[in-house]
Amino acid sequence: LRELRCDVAVIGAGTAGLAAYRSAREAGAQALLIEAGPGGTTCARVGCMPSKLLITAAQAAHDARRAGEFGVATGFIRVDGPAVLRRVRRERDRFVSSVLSEVENLPQDDRVAGHARFVAPASLIVEGRDTRVAFGAAVIATGSSPAIPKPLAGLGDRVLTTDTLFEIEDLPRSLAVIGGGPVGIEIAQAMARLGVAVTLLDGGHALAGLTDPDLVAQANALFGAEMTLHLGTKVERAERVGDEAHLAWAAEEGNGGSGVFERVLAATGRPPNLQGLDLEETGLSLDGKGSPRFDPRTLLGEGAPIFIAGDAAASRPVLHEAARQGRIAGRNAAAYARSERQGITAPAPWVNLAMVFTDPGTAAVGESYDPERADERIVGAADFSNQGRARIMDRAAGALRIYADRAGRLTGAEMLCPDAEHLGHLLAFAIQEGMSADILRDRPFYHPTIEKALGTALGRIMEARAEL
Ligand SMILES: Cc1cc2nc3c(=O)[nH]c(=O)nc-3n(C[C@H](O)[C@H](O)[C@H](O)COP(=O)(O)OP(=O)(O)OC[C@H]3O[C@@H](n4cnc5c(N)ncnc54)[C@H](O)[C@@H]3O)c2cc1C
Repeated sequence: LRELRCDVAVIGAGTAGLAAYRSAREAGAQALLIEAGPGGTTCARVGCMPSKLLITAAQAAHDARRAGEFGVATGFIRVDGPAVLRRVRRERDRFVSSVLSEVENLPQDDRVAGHARFVAPASLIVEGRDTRVAFGAAVIATGSSPAIPKPLAGLGDRVLTTDTLFEIEDLPRSLAVIGGGPVGIEIAQAMARLGVAVTLLDGGHALAGLTDPDLVAQANALFGAEMTLHLGTKVERAERVGDEAHLAWAAEEGNGGSGVFERVLAATGRPPNLQGLDLEETGLSLDGKGSPRFDPRTLLGEGAPIFIAGDAAASRPVLHEAARQGRIAGRNAAAYARSERQGITAPAPWVNLAMVFTDPGTAAVGESYDPERADERIVGAADFSNQGRARIMDRAAGALRIYADRAGRLTGAEMLCPDAEHLGHLLAFAIQEGMSADILRDRPFYHPTIEKALGTALGRIMEARAEL
């Protein structure tokens, strides 16, 4: 048995783990990075990057099809499925290899390949490596993995997750997407635009994680025009027959349905990768789901010198939070290992920012819509059906809703509109700075831009306040 000692053991070399390793080193700690899989990060290998590559191909097909609106004749549009997927993989491989070469450039002694599991509060073993690691502090950065709902388990290779989707050789003729959250709706719309007959099923009634009833209704209408939607449904039976998946679902209203699909994509959530870590050995206090209780600011777990960051922590499963949490956890783990409890920092959380790369896109910033607090909030809305720039681009659909407290201070926003990714950032920065509607309104808004709609919505908040 090889016995290693380190100040900080980081489990998982994804976005959070790599950030944790680097910040622990920068803080002067001797750090060890343990990775069970092929590495390259979820983001680059099976997450953000390949999904956005697929979406971009779909957007190209969509733009080509509607070029006629602008008087540009394109002729017959044909989507070459294998070519689409080849480009997705080619570019994806570049992103993955750049992460892998970054990792290969780290000192050899700082890296261990294998699955880590805890054997004591300050000790773990790396399976298959005959290695035991004694650490001063550890960072759990093990990410999350797609779940396959039970009824789909018997579908064999007919059921895909985002771990396998980007490996298919050709686009299917038909696809059932189970789950209309951010991952499901992005892939569903992209596939539909690439010519796949898409049916989306979801147990709830809101797509893309939207909460504002006005936007929920608009999203259902807009996305429903591109695919078959069955909301408020639950898959009850799934059977593989030849090369097809036969699904049967129940609906809240009682009238369920059934369908036959070439492929099924399970997009029903990503539970954190905590099984197999033997957390019971650590002394960490665990909640009912077996997840460690931890301080959301310092990221220190209760009961052991173990920090948690990224999707493993399951608080905000998006990339920029994984990177930030990794940095905080790594720095704090280094301080903890040096017994400098006073060196542990508890930075204030960033304003919440989440996006979905559909067309129109969505963004949610800060506080979400809360019917219970309707009396305490002012809503400033802007509609895009007649917005100047959106009409110029033939993208005149959707709405922006900004929330403020009765003093006019911005508290949150939700949108389904063109360039949501840019408006989302602007509002996130403003909300984090504690800006009020009148201060942000008193900034230059260039004409004719999508941002002009922001000015409109802010103006509505100011009008509503004047009437209070
Ligand atoms: C399809 C899809 C699209 C997405 N799109 C976006 C987007 O557009 N924008 C955005 O912000 N976010 C997006 N996300 C989410 C984003 O990818 C994740 O939030 C982020 O990658 C999480 O990083 P992480 O470091 O926590 O986990 P990971 O990158 O998954 O790293 C965890 C690592 O830990 C390793 N590991 C696990 N268990 C062990 C063990 N016991 N021992 C050793 N190693 C172990 C794993 O092999 C893995 O390499 C998307 C996700 C998916 C799936």
